[in-house]
Amino acid sequence: MKVVFHIVNYTNLCKPTVRMNKGKKIAITRPYDNVKDVNDSKDVWSLAVRVMDLWCVTGKYRQEQYLEMVIADKENDMIQLTVPYEELAKWKEILKENNTYTMLNFKVLKNDVAVKASTHPFRLAVSGATIIKPVDFPTIPLASFRFKDFGEILAGNYRNDLLIDVIGAFQDITNTNKKGTIIRSVTFLLKDASGLMIHATLWDEFAKQFFDAFNQANGPETIFIVLKHVRAREAQGIYPLCVTNTWSGTKVIINAEIPEIAEFKTRFAELPIDDVNASQQLSQLTQGSQITQQGDIMNKAHFLTLSEVNHVMHETICVTIAEIKKINANKYGWIYDGCNFCTKGVRMDNGQLKCRGNHINDEAKPRFRVEVEAVYKNDKAKFLLWDNDVASIIGMSAQELKEQLVEIGQFHPTAYPPILDQVVCPQKVFKIKACPESSPYSVIQISDNEGLLKNLEKQFGLGEASSKLALLDEVKVDEVKESQELVVDTLNTQSLCDETDPSCSSATPPPKRNSQEDVDWVGSTQDVEATQLSSTKLAKQPKLEPKN
Ligand SMILES: [Zn+2]
Repeated sequence: MKVVFHIVNYTNLCKPTVRMNKGKKIAITRPYDNVKDVNDSKDVWSLAVRVMDLWCVTGKYRQEQYLEMVIADKENDMIQLTVPYEELAKWKEILKENNTYTMLNFKVLKNDVAVKASTHPFRLAVSGATIIKPVDFPTIPLASFRFKDFGEILAGNYRNDLLIDVIGAFQDITNTNKKGTIIRSVTFLLKDASGLMIHATLWDEFAKQFFDAFNQANGPETIFIVLKHVRAREAQGIYPLCVTNTWSGTKVIINAEIPEIAEFKTRFAELPIDDVNASQQLSQLTQGSQITQQGDIMNKAHFLTLSEVNHVMHETICVTIAEIKKINANKYGWIYDGCNFCTKGVRMDNGQLKCRGNHINDEAKPRFRVEVEAVYKNDKAKFLLWDNDVASIIGMSAQELKEQLVEIGQFHPTAYPPILDQVVCPQKVFKIKACPESSPYSVIQISDNEGLLKNLEKQFGLGEASSKLALLDEVKVDEVKESQELVVDTLNTQSLCDETDPSCSSATPPPKRNSQEDVDWVGSTQDVEATQLSSTKLAKQPKLEPKN
């Protein structure tokens, strides 16, 4: 017989007691088991643990509440423990986050709940036989957030059935959905201390919690956000890879004075300031190209694949990835006579050079307008590059180029000078104004930030999984038709042949943080309801069905 001596102070309950029985030593209480060894072969496990995490769950259709916990032993191995409603009264008072306990006897279940709090193959439930006793175990590591690295999530190294915590600096609200005055969801971008960004989507009460705290925090300072108990969810249709709340237990912590946020702030402060607009920084590093930037290219724009762009039902400002294959030579040529006071074209009108805005010009200002063929995978579209972008790419204004060409007798608005070939480029990120059945699409902004491009490809599951995407595209197109209600209020909607450069009207600084009312720039809720069903269906299942 194996005889075990096990010394524990402070407790008489779980302390292994050894009695002499006819000269033989017999252990009559159990030594502590390792959490990692727990399995369903028996109930009589004996654990010395710390409560790492504790949250209360209210059943949706029942008044009953129960407790969920994550407990860890001194090896920091974790397992989920549920205190069902029937047992709650007995233990509620003594169970506190970060405290340590001895725990004895459980019901052991397979860890097959839809949203798991630990990766342990089993989980525990408190039963009528369970004994819990507060005992001091200072060697067990303290409770902490379980922050998931953004890079890991973006690289696809996540489980969508596992609760995680994230910390980041708020960047921008990218989408809100309301039904009447009720907020259904909010999606925003969080940036980590290495500059990586992921979307976070909060639904219903969590969206409300977000706005309550967000509106309070509204000011010039960066807002720091901890989302506790969220899960990563892969891109679905037009919805990007994101972290999203679960049915219960998610906590939205904004600008709280906690050490984790203080520590994050310090690391975040070391990021280059204009890394927010990383595209700018990178474009300056990339072969001298000086592509114009006007704030965050993702601001107020969904990402759409080029295939989706070709199927929008409404005028839509969106961001897409494309390669510029060639210049489309057409009768409008590469240059137009622009107004000096706006970006419209000018014409002679009663002996005066006027634009449609009735600005009177002495002399026209030459401006670029170059139609190109944009390609992504099997999809093609016509893009229109406007003055600033073309000038940035070729490093010369339309006026200068025209003057040089005139000098050598080579100027003609439809004779494309070779210097314009520089607009042909490998994949870049474009912000465009897409109009249904109206091509070309005006380019508003270009970014040659490789990081952003890769980030988008990862977030939207592009790249390797192209065959899966092709299937998805069928579905997505309908979703886009239903859901694209982006209100384009910042741009005037002159027809493109009017030679109006839309990028100029968007050259205002990116709007500051939006108030709750301002951000409802995506109107439709239809598809969102469907998405919400699918996104929270799993999470709504009770975490535990106690059965006897
Ligand atoms: Zn004008």
